[in-house]
Amino acid sequence: TYVVTQNCIRCKYTDCVEVCPVDCFYEGENFLVIHPDECIDCGLCEPECPAEAIFLDDDVTEDQQIFIEINAQLSEKW
Ligand code: SF4
Repeated sequence: TYVVTQNCIRCKYTDCVEVCPVDCFYEGENFLVIHPDECIDCGLCEPECPAEAIFLDDDVTEDQQIFIEINAQLSEKW
């Protein structure tokens, strides 16, 4: 699954949301998250993100690992 990380915080762009074929982006407090069970790993959103905040979970760097959990938790309530 793809994951939204740190750089998304307070980002105002929603290019990623517009290209997602399954509408699996959800709004967190001040950034977006991806629902891990709904994402189909198409990869379309990654190059669209102007903040370079979106990564495949396997590619998330060590210091951003917490965001894998955050994406799962914040998208769960939807
Ligand atoms: Fe949506 Fe595809 Fe990005 Fe997953 S990888 S969040 S399905 S655009």
